[in-house]
Amino acid sequence: MTDAARRNKTRAQRLSMPLARDVVKDMAIEHGGCIRPIQLRRTDLATGRTEPVLVPCGHTLASVCPACSERAKNLRAAQCREGWHLEQEPVIEPDDPTDEQMWWIRTRADAQDLRDAAQASGEGTDGWDAELSQLDDEINNAGMRGRVLPARPHRRHRSTRRRQDAPPLPKRPVDPRTVGKTYTTTDGKTFRPSLFITLTCPSYGRVKSDGTPANPAEYDYLAAARDALHFAALFDRFMQNLRRFVGYDIQYFAAVEPQRRIAPHVHIAMRGTVSRAELREVIAATYHQVWWPSTDTVRFDGARLPVWDEDSATYLDPDTGEVLPTWDEALDAIGDQDEPLHVARFGDRFDAQGVLAGSKDASRCIGYLTKYLTKHVADCHAAQTDDQVRHADRLADALRYEPCSPTCANWLLYGVQPKNARPHMRPGACKGKAHRREYLGYGGRRVVVSRKWSGKTLSDHRADRKNWLLQTLGLSATDPGRYAWEPVAPGDRDHMSIPQRLLHVVADRIRWQQALTEARRRAEGLPRDDLSATGEAE
Ligand SMILES: [Zn+2]
Ligand SMILES: [Zn+2]
Repeated sequence: MTDAARRNKTRAQRLSMPLARDVVKDMAIEHGGCIRPIQLRRTDLATGRTEPVLVPCGHTLASVCPACSERAKNLRAAQCREGWHLEQEPVIEPDDPTDEQMWWIRTRADAQDLRDAAQASGEGTDGWDAELSQLDDEINNAGMRGRVLPARPHRRHRSTRRRQDAPPLPKRPVDPRTVGKTYTTTDGKTFRPSLFITLTCPSYGRVKSDGTPANPAEYDYLAAARDALHFAALFDRFMQNLRRFVGYDIQYFAAVEPQRRIAPHVHIAMRGTVSRAELREVIAATYHQVWWPSTDTVRFDGARLPVWDEDSATYLDPDTGEVLPTWDEALDAIGDQDEPLHVARFGDRFDAQGVLAGSKDASRCIGYLTKYLTKHVADCHAAQTDDQVRHADRLADALRYEPCSPTCANWLLYGVQPKNARPHMRPGACKGKAHRREYLGYGGRRVVVSRKWSGKTLSDHRADRKNWLLQTLGLSATDPGRYAWEPVAPGDRDHMSIPQRLLHVVADRIRWQQALTEARRRAEGLPRDDLSATGEAE
């Protein structure tokens, strides 16, 4: 717009005009481009030529980056679809160890040798044991699974007695098979059904259709908070029980999200099928006991909190100077007569439906499973009424001083030193995700996929998609060893501002989409779209 044109507009007219930068951003989103691209500098090692490359941020929340979160969600949907009705056992072969991995194992072997020699000559082995455990961590850091030695038996005595209200469950040896059975109809057709299951938490009090309690004073927020905190462990227990019950290595793709009453529930795509009656039996028998110290008595609060003693690196009673029991001591003090702090169970209402490969039902269920993955737990059902806001507030209050894990600062309230205690721990200010409002008490992973689901990792699925794209476009994959990559710092000469990057994103996306449309037309045998309508035919 020229100065003259600008002068001829009223202020209201000018304000109603969109900001050019916003339009660029909207267009980037519309064309599936990342709005927070990261700038890297790519050097071709053969020619020495450098060029800027914009890499998508890859965020999984739509509130942060709509395009990247949508792509992440589609990737999960592809992963879910691929594993659900697998007909052959997935092949999972470990990679050969790298030189670095072998070096760590050799070092670990030497250390074990020295430790055992020390033990044989009657010397102490504490120093060596600490060293070995660090080496074990390094071995895992270097990309190897498991431990070189079996874990030493736990010295802590734990009550394993079954609670009386849990019905016994028959246990069968678990066959390594992961693929479901096929069934044959009378007219000779075979089919391989799989299952879609939804498990919910029990009732904490009657709720209205908006998800808020009919009687807030009677709603059991403490139980709701604890069930949410231990939901991941309960789900894990359920799958273990189910595997032992059916006798094969059931595989699953599960997504955890909140119901309207803001209690978590889990949707599970399961390979193979189980009858409703059997599911009901396993759900009823499944529980997760939380053997943590009691939180019945608040021993310290407000201005009277345990104090950290620098010399002994422990928390002390602020009045008597007495050392508070450590986490392990507090666990050891739990006796046979004591009850677990909490017992988490699923509610008896559940949903289960058989789903056939490639059916409309399968697509619809995959839609459910991935629907909320681009949102924070608390944003799945954003509070819209005062009642809903108050309901969320009360749950957040119940979660605030509830210990979220053995390392939670809230243990200080109950006179127990948190595991790995350190200075400046303050009850009510634990950094654990579960306490934060957007998590509603559930700090676990949103998508839980068993190891032999599709036989592929998420990066394998990502690589599949890239290969498909390259093939469709008739391009060959570039040799990853050909380029060197480095980040571009704000002070660098070639550094691009965000608006400048977005302009590139928009141009790139449009070019890609045109190339893709063209490639698809070619694949379908349609004539080239030569833009003749615009009169710019080549
Ligand atoms: Zn992005
Ligand atoms: Zn915590």
